[in-house]
Amino acid sequence: MSGVITGERRSADTHSARSGGGAFVPEATPLDDARAQLAVATGLLGYSDGLHAMLATPRRELTVAVPLRADDGSTMLFTGYRVQHNFSRGPAKGGLRYSPGVNLDEVRALAMWMTWKCALLDVPYGGAKGGVAIDPRLHSKAELERVTRRYTSEILPIIGPERDIPAPDVGTDEQTMAWMMDTYSVNTGYTVPGIVTGKPISLGGSQGRASATSRGVTHIALAALKHRGISASRASAAVQGFGKVGRDTARFLHQAGLRVLGISDQYGAIHNAGGLDIERLCAFVDETGTVMGFPGAEPLDRDLLLELDVDLLVPAAVEGVLHEGNATRVTAPVIVEGANGPTSPAAARIFADRGQLVVPDILANAGGVIVSYFEWVQANQAYWWNAAEVEAKLEERMLSAWQQVVDYATQRTLSLRTAATVLAVERVAEAHRLRGLYP
Ligand code: GLU
Repeated sequence: MSGVITGERRSADTHSARSGGGAFVPEATPLDDARAQLAVATGLLGYSDGLHAMLATPRRELTVAVPLRADDGSTMLFTGYRVQHNFSRGPAKGGLRYSPGVNLDEVRALAMWMTWKCALLDVPYGGAKGGVAIDPRLHSKAELERVTRRYTSEILPIIGPERDIPAPDVGTDEQTMAWMMDTYSVNTGYTVPGIVTGKPISLGGSQGRASATSRGVTHIALAALKHRGISASRASAAVQGFGKVGRDTARFLHQAGLRVLGISDQYGAIHNAGGLDIERLCAFVDETGTVMGFPGAEPLDRDLLLELDVDLLVPAAVEGVLHEGNATRVTAPVIVEGANGPTSPAAARIFADRGQLVVPDILANAGGVIVSYFEWVQANQAYWWNAAEVEAKLEERMLSAWQQVVDYATQRTLSLRTAATVLAVERVAEAHRLRGLYP
């Protein structure tokens, strides 16, 4: 008889500063960071304690058990979450994360950031996030399919194209979205392409969705460098992470004329003072699964990647990597947050004191959810746009939000993060005020 194994086969490295690795471990969680950012915004807006409490608290949370029949016949048990932070401006929207360290507080923080991101970019959604505490690298495709289908059926009562629309995040991809869409559709009795975004194009995904976050990060990085008087053709960059966001960001930055000097992934970091050949690196990673061992680059301690002497740093992995333990050693004058929540409030204060420009996640990495919105619009109309249309609309939305945030920050002498959060929170509160409190 096969026994029930709770949790994972073996522990795995989560690529997170908060998980230790001998490094400084900040006390604050992503939820503390998200709440601290919100408190600054509601303080500036003069909101009541009651309104603040409403904005700080998810509307709905679901924790589910996700049992898996493993390929060897044994049973394993994982825990999954879906948190819907806010619906004032439309259906909840946000990714699904597979990562061993996922917990309810992290998902709450990520859901809150989705609410502000959607409001800031003026897409008609609230915010949500999901997660399963599983390391996808330790499971076969068949096991991941079963986990995804079971998780989807457990959260089925609270998702839907007009309720809550999941998308890929760390550890999930377009195949995960295809399984979710199929599970939802089979249970509904007809195909519902609008239930998830980030689907394969052949199932109603949008052109340009897979690289949308990276395109958006690149538009914002180029605008931020220009804002700081740094010419892209003479600029250098370091990118933390070589997954869904980091990889294409490195490619697009390289194509825009920047020298990308350093890149890290979950296994380590590499460095070349003359600039990495990103296309060759992509081919190498396709073959080996890691940037480590890439010929033409020196290995580098993973944490030192963040401290490279570059003009632009793009943290594009997980939250909490820039904290009070390393912020004083981070010298990049421009930091563009490809990840959600990479900078703790303490690190943000250090960067502000030293005149470093931080472009916050809810602006910098919003390209993904913008094209998710385009995908949902296309799916609901069954009318498809070409890649050039998607990219032009994405660029226009990103740059217009950038300008709004910069203008607001300049007028009121605020950091870009505080300006972006205030603008977003104000929009959510306005929608809430107009709808009124029921009953
Ligand atoms: N997971 C992405 C994010 O954090 C995309 C979410 C979406 O497209 O709904 O923004």
